[in-house]
Amino acid sequence: MASRVIPVEPFDLVIFGGTGDLAQRKILPSLFRRFIEGQMPPEARIIGAARSALDDRGYREMVAEAVRAHVSPHRCTEKNLAAFLKTIFYVPVDARGETGWEALKARMRPGVVQAFYFSVGPGLFGDLAQRLKSHAIAGETARIVVEKPFGHDLASARALNATLAAHFREQYIYRIDHYLGKETVQNLMALRFGNMLFEPLWNAQYVDHVQITVAETVGVGGRGSYYDHAGAMRDMVQNHLMQLLCLTAMEPPSKFDPDAVRDEKLKVIRALKHVELPEIVRGQYLAGPDTPSYREDVDNPDSTTESYIALKLEIANWRWNGTPFYLRTGKRLKARLSEIVIQFKEPPHSIFDSPPGQGANELSIRLQPDEGMDLKVTIKEPGPGGMRLIDVPLDMTFAEALGEEVADAPDAYERLIMDVIRGNQTLFMRGDEVEAAWAWTDPIIAEWEARDQRPLGYEPGSTGPEEAAILMHRDGRRWRELKT
Ligand code: NAD
Repeated sequence: MASRVIPVEPFDLVIFGGTGDLAQRKILPSLFRRFIEGQMPPEARIIGAARSALDDRGYREMVAEAVRAHVSPHRCTEKNLAAFLKTIFYVPVDARGETGWEALKARMRPGVVQAFYFSVGPGLFGDLAQRLKSHAIAGETARIVVEKPFGHDLASARALNATLAAHFREQYIYRIDHYLGKETVQNLMALRFGNMLFEPLWNAQYVDHVQITVAETVGVGGRGSYYDHAGAMRDMVQNHLMQLLCLTAMEPPSKFDPDAVRDEKLKVIRALKHVELPEIVRGQYLAGPDTPSYREDVDNPDSTTESYIALKLEIANWRWNGTPFYLRTGKRLKARLSEIVIQFKEPPHSIFDSPPGQGANELSIRLQPDEGMDLKVTIKEPGPGGMRLIDVPLDMTFAEALGEEVADAPDAYERLIMDVIRGNQTLFMRGDEVEAAWAWTDPIIAEWEARDQRPLGYEPGSTGPEEAAILMHRDGRRWRELKT
């Protein structure tokens, strides 16, 4: 089944931080893939802008290396690459000074979509926004794209929103959470609001609980100095897990339009109850036989930052009253896995003498490593041996159902960057959503800081601290196995 590719309008996309890690690993390879798919028109231009003293040629060499390193060889042919490189330009720019701005202005063309990707630290967002306007580079409808972290707490997120709002209207600000660009996340909306089957059951009457897991096998790597000031709550829960929670729990929007969807997500965040400390487990990975401990990784022997968190959340509204959402995320765990699991209740009465728990359907929506869904259903065990029931998965792995096309599905960044050019904000976070998420996160962090709470050590390659399992056992539930 071939997916339709509709080219976007011609554009000038400036990547501030165009020589950085994110640009090289994600943004530029994603643009290359859209280019060879025919979605990026040949007259589009990508202009790298960063501090390095490069020219167009030097930057093209860097881009070629980045694309070769991150795109599969069968797509990255030299012919494709040569054509793509013709769209690439470079201007040395200092965000904090006056160097390069007039040269950048000279490179911009009238009459095309303008987008400015701020792939730099958030400390530079204000400088970039201000200079884009003071040098009259960004036109009335120019878009800016900003990366996480969007603030460190509510006060800093508000300040950042105010800084951007001084120069750009909200409808032109695209706050990226790349989880929203994943095929499965959009499929969650298609499943819920495009079918009759699920939505009538999607509430506290039929759903026992929901689990959202984002597990990583890697440690903090080279991000130690940033991560040690953030921790799993700020780095993962406040944004990625919160977004997944919102899409799972929200009411049907009246239409699939940016503000209708984001209004419903915001209502979910505002309905979250405060989480008390006994409902939260914080962990920090210990050293393994061949791996350093978290504290060694961040070079801080006294660090009390968590690399793991599990918590029980309740949503105070009619739909979810009494149905908890359990969230967990951590580094250096047993498996790399991101999934949302909707655990339905058991049938109210079994006519089959079934053991407890049988018939409690389970819908799991996987985002990583492979994208897909499966639904556990109970059927009769085949054969003449009487009426015995077994649970089987109805596998909806898209790669199998829809063929290679989907197995090679676009990366989240590909979709999101094209949405910026199309001017569609549905899969981007609005300023008030981000602030509401911080407003929920801040008091929790303040409480554990006030009590000088220390995270619990956990073995690398494990499922996290034992206390996370106890959090579930107390409610007569358990986490789904952490396996890929
Ligand atoms: P990086 O340190 O690798 O690159 C930073 C870039 O900013 C470089 O191109 C540098 O030249 C440019 N820069 C720095 N100071 C400048 C100045 N004064 N004027 C002009 N350019 C300047 O950083 P990165 O990992 O690419 O991350 C960029 C942003 O994206 C950060 O906010 C980061 O938190 C966020 N982010 C990164 C990742 C990732 O995987 N790397 C993931 C999510 C979010």
